[in-house]
Amino acid sequence: MSATVLIIGAGGVGGVVTHKCAQVPEVFGRIVLASRTEGKCRAIAGQIERPVETAQVDADNVPELVALIGKVKPALVINVALPYQDLTIMDACLATGVDYLDTANYEPLDTAKFEYHWQWAYQDRFHDAGLTALLGSGFDPGATNVFTAYLAKHVFDEIHYLDIIDVNGGDHGYPFATNFNPEINIREVTASCRHWEDGKFITTEPMSLKQSFTCPEGVGTYNIYRLYHEELESLVKHIPHLRRAQFWMSFGDSYLKHLEVLGNVGMTGIEPVEFQGQKIVPIQFLKALLPDPASLGPRTKGRTCIGVHARGIRDGGKKTAFLYNICDHQACYAEVQSQAISYTTGVPAMIGAKQILSGNWRKPGVWNIEQMDPDPFMADMNAYGLPWTLLEDPDFDLA
Ligand code: NDP
Repeated sequence: MSATVLIIGAGGVGGVVTHKCAQVPEVFGRIVLASRTEGKCRAIAGQIERPVETAQVDADNVPELVALIGKVKPALVINVALPYQDLTIMDACLATGVDYLDTANYEPLDTAKFEYHWQWAYQDRFHDAGLTALLGSGFDPGATNVFTAYLAKHVFDEIHYLDIIDVNGGDHGYPFATNFNPEINIREVTASCRHWEDGKFITTEPMSLKQSFTCPEGVGTYNIYRLYHEELESLVKHIPHLRRAQFWMSFGDSYLKHLEVLGNVGMTGIEPVEFQGQKIVPIQFLKALLPDPASLGPRTKGRTCIGVHARGIRDGGKKTAFLYNICDHQACYAEVQSQAISYTTGVPAMIGAKQILSGNWRKPGVWNIEQMDPDPFMADMNAYGLPWTLLEDPDFDLA
């Protein structure tokens, strides 16, 4: 089995997915990389020894997508453009009869929502067409959902408290830069916080709760802040017995200080403002000023630690576990010319694609990744660059 795959989006994540698919020729026989700017596709293709075809496409435009998919005839489209393009790419996959995978849920341009209902509404159409759509196959969402499914399957009888922890211990040397698309990143961290407790989502001020977390393996001690993250919405639906589910991310003091000032002066706004006869969206202008996340690769040092901390019961007794991956920015750069944030997203995208193409996860309908059997994905994380460690009843706890 060796299939044609069409990757859409030639940013930081698109580069990693293309590199990683190229490393598995027995599954990804032909690779086509398309994006809004074809030059970026060519630059990525130029880093890879195997031939990678490139194309230009505006993924907001369904007829253009349909024409491209019709020409390339892929078995699967991997969508690593921006969340704004999810629905148009899903529409094009339905029109052409091709399976679909992404790493982030759909968002309308004018509201930072992070909700799955737009994509879940495609369930019947994908099911009836016999097509698979796999949502959220990055790291978080993605590997963190699979980690949770793995813990629920193998380690716990019931998970009661779930805390997803995303620490980036990397340093790029800039006072302020974002590790992935600045617009998406800033929309995420400035949105109201929501966490799940006692059967409902509770909304609190953005970043209003923090605690200190010491990562295993000497990655370091960081302040982690509670914020809303999209995988919470699907996990509380699909993992039974959860009493509370929260998401935590580390931020340095310099990042937070800059973000506060930028927010105070209106630079993180998503509403267009009139400037010298032109409409400008402040956050898009800010994105143009900030370092391109793809350029951070060579200068980022340190490691990430992303994992799932769970508390619950096993065989009638209390059980705690922390399941995590540690990833080294410089090692990622040496392998695929990208820092660890794009790497930890792009590798699970390739692994999710591999599960669909190999038939392990081909199932008509629209699925969040925790609805699939975690075992083949977990095995592939160890095989393709994101090895994980399970600490059962670790000697630390969370607040
Ligand atoms: P980038 O901004 O680096 O790359 C996005 C790419 O998509 C760019 O090449 C851009 O083209 C292209 N693009 C944007 N709009 C269009 C369009 N209309 N038509 C065609 N191509 C388009 O983002 P990242 O690589 O950092 O992120 C990619 C995706 O991964 C995002 O959806 C992000 O939310 C998600 N992500 C998921 C994570 C997870 O763990 N689940 C973590 C990090 C990211 P151009 O170069 O011309 O601008």
